[in-house]
Amino acid sequence: MKILIVEDEPKTGNYLRQGLSEAGFVVDLARDGLDGLHLALTETYDLAVLDVMLPGIDGWQVLQGIRRAGRELPVLFLSARDEIDDRVRGLELGADDYLVKPFAFAELLARVRTLLRRGTKVKEADVLRAADLEVDLPRRRVTRAGRRIDLTAKEFALLELLLRRQGEVLPRSLIASQVWDMNFDSDTNVVDVAVRRLRAKIDDEFEPRLIRTVRGMGYVLEAPECL
Ligand code: CA
Repeated sequence: MKILIVEDEPKTGNYLRQGLSEAGFVVDLARDGLDGLHLALTETYDLAVLDVMLPGIDGWQVLQGIRRAGRELPVLFLSARDEIDDRVRGLELGADDYLVKPFAFAELLARVRTLLRRGTKVKEADVLRAADLEVDLPRRRVTRAGRRIDLTAKEFALLELLLRRQGEVLPRSLIASQVWDMNFDSDTNVVDVAVRRLRAKIDDEFEPRLIRTVRGMGYVLEAPECL
């Protein structure tokens, strides 16, 4: 899942970027409104977090630009306490939710997950499965053969990607860009290491093995048809 943050205060922006990355999201951070709008219209995001007061064009204008372009992207607004009257305006313009600064990160994360769930509910299942492996997305819970498995945020994101594209061989570069937001040229060894850790948790003690290495190509997760 990919999130766009538009926030001009370096401290808040970096804090949000770090927190959301650690929670397993791929994050782009724009420091002003024009940059933010440009990214929102040229890249594909699952959600945007917009500060209201921004240099250049403000958060309202970014939101209007997004909606004018017909984008359904869920938007969470951030605003200082003295701008609280803006709430009405934001919601009228099509913001999906609103958070007043200062806020606790846990609160923001909960709102982000709620918005993402609302946005995907109609088109995607909440639970992804392969053989006896189950991933409950809203609860962030993974079980195999009924046994609870604890994953790190990155392992979870990796497993979610493999499950969503079950049966498809995913090149390391694609995995790196979707889970770590790294470029094609980056060191993709990090992918191999993460896949090894994930396998140790979901595959090593179970049958059948679900994650397969396709030599020279990448990784695929699939449940064998005849068990
Ligand atoms: Ca600001």
